[in-house]
Amino acid sequence: MSRQVMAAAVTAVQDYLRYLQGIGVTELPLASEVVVASSGASSQERLVQLEASVRGCTQCQLHTGRTQVVFGAGDPAADLVFVGEAPGRDEDLKGEPFVGPAGQLLTRIIEAIGLRREQVYILNVVKCRPPNNRNPRPEEVAACRPILQAQLDCLQPRVICAMGAFAAQSLLQTEERISRLRGRFHMLGAIQVMPTYHPAYLLRNPQEKRTVWQDMQAVQRVLALQ
Ligand code: SF4
Repeated sequence: MSRQVMAAAVTAVQDYLRYLQGIGVTELPLASEVVVASSGASSQERLVQLEASVRGCTQCQLHTGRTQVVFGAGDPAADLVFVGEAPGRDEDLKGEPFVGPAGQLLTRIIEAIGLRREQVYILNVVKCRPPNNRNPRPEEVAACRPILQAQLDCLQPRVICAMGAFAAQSLLQTEERISRLRGRFHMLGAIQVMPTYHPAYLLRNPQEKRTVWQDMQAVQRVLALQ
């Protein structure tokens, strides 16, 4: 590893620790149950191994109320990954992200930019359903972070669409409001991240559909889907 790469990695870790401190995390889990697959495996094989390794995860208290871990779904070779907050009731029961009414709206958004749902990958920041659909707590986000990071390392998408304040702030390690983050790309390593409003918010605020459409058109342009 070159000195510059090492320095960038150290800076990234320092930024992440500062972010965790800022959102109130005072302890990190000692060990992750995430299995790092052999380096010879393809990204798809590593993703399958990763999913198997986290199926019984007990790294945070959310494991006590879940039906199952909702790992993610879609094409492991996708250029575009959608990231949401956490599974809800429908997702917890089915084991797939975004299958309820918000998920149906997400499917229509994906189709509006000329793709099918099976051509993208969809996942959440936190893999287990929080009780009564409360927001995940900082320590739960921190516990689940190695899984998210390992997923993104396997997927290596060109673009991430971060849906809602929670996903955008967690990915970009900022407390900036979604209304200020959306509408422009942010870099996460080599990945371009477009924050936009969550489909569940759109269901409650249909007047924002035009705003989300502007964000999705920017994604469409970067991926040259037009
Ligand atoms: Fe493990 Fe993440 Fe589920 Fe917590 S939310 S138990 S860290 S998979």
